[in-house]
Amino acid sequence: ENGSEKPGCSSRILVFVRLRPMAKKEKEAGSRCCVKIVNRRDVYLTEFASENDYLRLKRLRGRHFTFDASFPDSTTQQEVYTTTTAELVEAVLQGRNGSVFCYGATGAGKTYTMLGTMENPGVMVLAIKDLFTKIRQRSCDGSHVVHLSYLEVYNETVRDLLSPGRPLVLREDKQGIVAAGLTQYRAYSTDEVMALLQRGNQNRTTEPTRANETSSRSHAILQVVVEYKVKNASLDVINKVGKLSLIDLAGSERALATDQRTLRSLEGANINRSLLALSSCINALVEGKKHIPYRNSKLTQLLKDSLGGVCNTVMIANISPSNLSFGETQNTLHWADRAK
Ligand code: ADP
Ligand code: MG
Repeated sequence: ENGSEKPGCSSRILVFVRLRPMAKKEKEAGSRCCVKIVNRRDVYLTEFASENDYLRLKRLRGRHFTFDASFPDSTTQQEVYTTTTAELVEAVLQGRNGSVFCYGATGAGKTYTMLGTMENPGVMVLAIKDLFTKIRQRSCDGSHVVHLSYLEVYNETVRDLLSPGRPLVLREDKQGIVAAGLTQYRAYSTDEVMALLQRGNQNRTTEPTRANETSSRSHAILQVVVEYKVKNASLDVINKVGKLSLIDLAGSERALATDQRTLRSLEGANINRSLLALSSCINALVEGKKHIPYRNSKLTQLLKDSLGGVCNTVMIANISPSNLSFGETQNTLHWADRAK
């Protein structure tokens, strides 16, 4: 059922929810679990309800949500990868573009889902691993070339995470928007990638007040570009390019509080412009609008060729089980619900 191509719904966004396990800190603070996932689809927010009360919540607005799939806290990294992203890797090998986003409050599990750890690598690493496996299966002539770029958008400034330095300038050329001078790392195997991404992640901008913590306001974008040659019917060699963008978004907590206001009125405010602009683009895509406001932020400009149209777009909303995060969880679920 998952993802056979449906003609006429080409810009549908697949939306998933992932619940992370209760953290030690949350347990120590005496928190209870306020999220229940049933049948791998339904998410119930229970707040004060006891274990079995969730069925009654079906009638309460804003307490019951359903998504393409919802992952309970026991879900493995591999399962999350296979359900959400494996198909996009297949599409990239056919010369198409796609993107996968992790959305949610700081601490909800976005970086764990995207990057993961050495022992439990996340979607970024598993996607590249799968990509190399699939390439090996279909050709032994080395005709596929894989390039990786890893960049950050922080305060509407674009930086190269693989080669930190001056901010990158976005330029529009024949192929679309490009970040001038961005490192394109030629990857030959999976082994080197995890270390490369870990190092890149350490280059993410940290907030002065939260030393040692990656900033909750920085978006990290991994772009995997696959180029290969194919012969058409008349045996001409043609070049094909597919691009997969994997995005660990900034924490949604600040943006949500002001979601109703327009981007313009937020100028100068301490609000994540790129995150709001992404929401606007997604809402416009979902509503089938002709005009998609990509130009409103650096993030949406960078993703213009990977979002909407015939591209595959996947959203993973990350949530904490703790009742201490009830408000944030509810906001995240509402946001994800609107992206469907
Ligand atoms: P975010 O990037 O959204 O701010 P993190 O990914 O850093 O959040 O997750 C916060 C903490 O929870 C980290 O210590 C992380 O290792 C842990 N964590 C998140 N998701 C999971 C999970 N599915 N299983 C185990 N630990 C997790
Ligand atoms: Mg993070």
